[in-house]
Order: sequence, then C-alpha cells, then structure tokens
Amino acid sequence: MLDSRSRINYPLYWFSMKHIAVLTSGGDAPGMNAAIRAIVRSAAHNEIKVSGVFNGYQGLIEDNFADLNTRSVSNIIQLGGTILRSARSEEFYQPAARARAATALKNRAVDGLLIIGGDGSFRGASQLSIEHEIPVIGIPATIDNDIFGTDLSIGFDTAINVALDFVDRLRDTAASHDRLFLVELMGRDSGNLALHVGLGGGAEAILLPEQNLQGEQAAELVMQAKQPGKSSSIVIVAEGAYEGGAIALQDSIRQRCEFEVRSSILGHVIRGGSPSTQDRVFASRLGYEAVMQLKAGKGSLMIGIDKGETVLVPFEMTCSNVKDIDWHLHHIAQITSQ
Ligand code: ADP
Repeated sequence: MLDSRSRINYPLYWFSMKHIAVLTSGGDAPGMNAAIRAIVRSAAHNEIKVSGVFNGYQGLIEDNFADLNTRSVSNIIQLGGTILRSARSEEFYQPAARARAATALKNRAVDGLLIIGGDGSFRGASQLSIEHEIPVIGIPATIDNDIFGTDLSIGFDTAINVALDFVDRLRDTAASHDRLFLVELMGRDSGNLALHVGLGGGAEAILLPEQNLQGEQAAELVMQAKQPGKSSSIVIVAEGAYEGGAIALQDSIRQRCEFEVRSSILGHVIRGGSPSTQDRVFASRLGYEAVMQLKAGKGSLMIGIDKGETVLVPFEMTCSNVKDIDWHLHHIAQITSQ
C-alpha cells in the first residue's frame, strides 16, 4: 500500500503516459538490473513503451537511447552492475545541458522519466523536473543506504552480505594469529553500511563518520577493542570516520600497542556480484510501483520504503535532509561486542 504522506502535495501531470525512459546514474548497485526489468515489464503490461538511456545523465544529454522490450530484459535479474551502464555527468550540473536533455526527451516523445540512483542523482532529477516540467520518479539504489526518506536502497543488502563474508574470513586469520584487524568499508559520509556489517560481524568496535571522532578518540576506541581474553579483534572503520582511513589510523596506533595490527580495505569489490534475494524482490517492487505512479500522473518524488510499506517522498525532502544512522543499533553493537 502507498502511504501518500497526506500533508504533501505532489505535482500531478494530466497527460497519459504512453512512453517512458529509464536510466541508471551515480554509483552502480546490485539490483539495478532487477529494477530495469521490472520497469520494462510493468510498463509493457500497461501498454507503455520504454526507452533505456545509456550512461546516466550523460546519455540523456547526448541522446543515447535504445528501445527496451520484455525480451531485452530477459536473464538480467541475477546480474550485478547495470546493463544501461552508469556515469557521473559534470555537464548535467549546468542548466544548458539539462535543457539539451529535456529536448532529447521531448523529441522522442517521452512522457515520463525514471531515475535509478542515489541522492545526487535525485538532485539532478529534481532540477530537470522543475525546469522542464517533466514527470520524474526516483528509485533509490546505492550500497551506502544513505538516502533520506527510505529505510532501504537497492544494493545495500547484497553489499552488506558480501562485506560480512570478508569480515568472517578475516576473523579466522585474526584469531589464528592473535591480531587486531582494521577493516575499512565504503559509504562516503554515511556509516550505515559499516554499522550493519560491524554488528553482523561481531566487530569489537565500529567507527562511524556520524560520531565525529576528534583527535585521539579513534585511536582510543581501537585500543579498547583489544579486550583481554579475546583471541581476535575486528574494528570496522567507515570510510569517512577517520581522515586517511584505516591505513592512517593503523599508523597512528602502531607505536603505542604491543599487539599486531593489520588493515584491510574493502573497496569496490563489495559493489559487485549477483544481487541478493532481498535486493531482487525490493528492486522488482519499486520498479513496478514507480511505473504505476508515473502512470497515475505523479512526479518529482522518490519511491521508497518505510517500515515495510512503499512510500512517496518528494525530491525536495530527499535532497534537503540527511539520513541519520540507527543509534540504537549502534548501542546494541557496543553492548554485544563486550
Ligand atoms: P549518486 O546518485 O550515487 O549519489 P552522484 O552524487 O555522483 O551519485 O550524482 C550522480 C549524477 O547526478 C552527477 O554526476 C550529476 O550528473 C547529477 N547531479 C548530482 N547533483 C546534481 C545537482 N545538484 N544538479 C544537477 N545534477 C546533479
């Protein structure tokens, strides 16, 4: 069921939706293909034509389109990455480039646009929608799960499970050699991914950007993580938690501790691979709902999930708010790691 968040007025477009376009933008995330598949097939079911745009907004500016039909999306639900390819487009920050994108859409008689991407992509979508009155709906997809207004984003579940597998493996070697491992995880300014992997992997400490650790605080937390009686210690360091990341933190504590400290950086490798069941189901659900909302005349919003229910969140909210991490989960992680 869709929670219409009744106090909010969505732009409503009164023309019938005969042709929509879809693109993937920003960092790729496993499950993007499942969303593309759901969009194409849901649209076909509603007799709506679908065009795919290659290379995100850059492809929109350069008029790089291809027709998609139900058979073009066969056999992709299990694939990581995105068949439409993704890109970051510097040009799209310029109004003139967005005007070219709008012209490409109008020349091809596209009535509505679906953007699969992160909050940056939604900023671009919002601009395009406002400046050129194009109905645009965003589908959240980022392994960082840092988008305000949705509990989950496509790719997060797969990424945390891939990262957790690596952490479990490191635990084996840490325990065999009585070592402390610093594990750096992606997530830009968000600690969501690190928190979930840290709690799931039983990390002795989790350092998050949201903690705003100052001076020696990070080093102190690492030192405390090496607890008496434990044969191994894992400290998860979110990308933005410490200037210079895990390697710099390791250097800063090496002189002061008697035990062996090693660092491991889990970078882009956790982005790839086949999407989990949850990501495939979630992406299919959002892809279907996004088409139905465009058909119903909605636009300038993201379709997300809140406590299991599909929700519509205006771009102005996703773009002007920062998603916080679940501090209670962080508390539980601290208690259960003792
Ligand atoms: P993500 O969507 O994963 O957060 P980015 O922040 O890199 O990724 O944004 C993806 C693309 O969205 C950018 O390369 C740019 O083309 C477009 N974009 C982001 N912010 C804006 C903005 N404020 N105005 C116009 N376009 C934007």
